[in-house]
Amino acid sequence: MSNVTIDDLMNMLNHDTEEEKRKILKAYELASKLHHGQMRESGEPYIVHPLSVAIILASMHADADTICAGLLHDTIEDTNITKEDIAESFNKDVANLVDGVTKLAKMNFSSKEEQNLANTRKIITGITNDVRIIVIKLADRLHNMRTLEHKKPVKQKENALETLEIFVPLAYSIGAYGIKGELEDLSLRYLKPDIYKKTGDKIQKITELNRAWLEDMRANLLQILASHNIPSEIKLRIKNVYSIYKKMEQGHKLNEIHDLLALKIIVENLLQCYETLGFVHKEYHPLNSKFKDYICSPKTNKYQSLHTTIFGPNDTLVQTQIRTTEMDKIATYGLPAYWDIYGADAREKMQEELKSKYQFFTSLVEINQAFGDNKEFIDQVKRELFANRIYVYTTKGEIIELPYNATVIDFAYKIHTDIGNTMIGAQVNDEFVDVSHILKNKDRVKVLTDPLSFGPRSEWESLAKTTHARRRIREFNKK
Ligand code: MN
Repeated sequence: MSNVTIDDLMNMLNHDTEEEKRKILKAYELASKLHHGQMRESGEPYIVHPLSVAIILASMHADADTICAGLLHDTIEDTNITKEDIAESFNKDVANLVDGVTKLAKMNFSSKEEQNLANTRKIITGITNDVRIIVIKLADRLHNMRTLEHKKPVKQKENALETLEIFVPLAYSIGAYGIKGELEDLSLRYLKPDIYKKTGDKIQKITELNRAWLEDMRANLLQILASHNIPSEIKLRIKNVYSIYKKMEQGHKLNEIHDLLALKIIVENLLQCYETLGFVHKEYHPLNSKFKDYICSPKTNKYQSLHTTIFGPNDTLVQTQIRTTEMDKIATYGLPAYWDIYGADAREKMQEELKSKYQFFTSLVEINQAFGDNKEFIDQVKRELFANRIYVYTTKGEIIELPYNATVIDFAYKIHTDIGNTMIGAQVNDEFVDVSHILKNKDRVKVLTDPLSFGPRSEWESLAKTTHARRRIREFNKK
């Protein structure tokens, strides 16, 4: 039994004004009153759940409205309060957020399945309305998964599967690796308890076997960096159980996973990352083929870090990750880290960057417009955004995210509609290819255009994998 109290939450609110604190307390009192008498399956009073969700949000330094919404997130669904009531007692934002995480009522649907599909769509598209909706939803799911032991086995498996299919990809999309990893491990624990335990035990054993020399290495690096006036923090990072299970499922052996154990070096600024890299390589030889610069070429979910695999002492390869404090916050929390980094400007900046810098977002908006039917919408999102993706380079070295099996056509339209409409072929890694060519991870792609081209042929539509390209081709051919 957990025994969280409102004091635990209030003690976390160091960044909030007195007025904001009063508002959060008011939300707690209202939620307590409304859920009074309701129990969780664990036997605890229901309020423990929204309070825990609010605490998860507060740990990300969420704004006061979001924390209020976290406290009230189940009230519209489970009590007799309405969205209008919340707007009146708090404000429109809080009401919108609570409404955004509220399930659509049964009475609007002819079957349970229809209701479920509509609700899944609502969860996925909530982000197009306000990014904070998905963050509250992820915190909600995280607490439910942490307390899943109290549910019946059938429900446990059902929730774990839904978590892997919907919430894990959503967490990845906004770069929230901390939440993603925990949700994955909790899901595996209920879906494949034996594998979860066996893999977990093995990881623990390997960690124990290697801890001593890794600690030596850590101390050595700390000292080298300190002697060059680079203040740093070095943590031992152990890959999560689910990621290792996935790699082993793909046929890798445990001793072939070189990033199972990694040293994470956190420094103050960007230049120090590269200085640190130099000192690391000077001390331990790098495995050149394994070097990655995600600082200058961030992942499409904005993850930034340098990764280098080095020949450690003890004849073992070790991955080293080098990043700034800010990059580390984004790597852990993803977009929600903006609350911590940008304070009062966070909300606007989150929504703005989501639109301009997160490639999945524009694709999601497009799929949402293209598919009226809920089942078709969800299937397309799973195929195009949640399944395996590939990352290819433009001629300028920018990274473009595409679904697995995407073609040159998808690439061209993702760059610009005019490029797609005037494309006559392409060069992939310097070789000439047809527009139907299927791209692979890390390909370099140059689209060849001719302003006098006939435009996209209608059969391109079926060769394209992305909704965006298909719609543009259809539009062109309608004219
Ligand atoms: Mn809930």
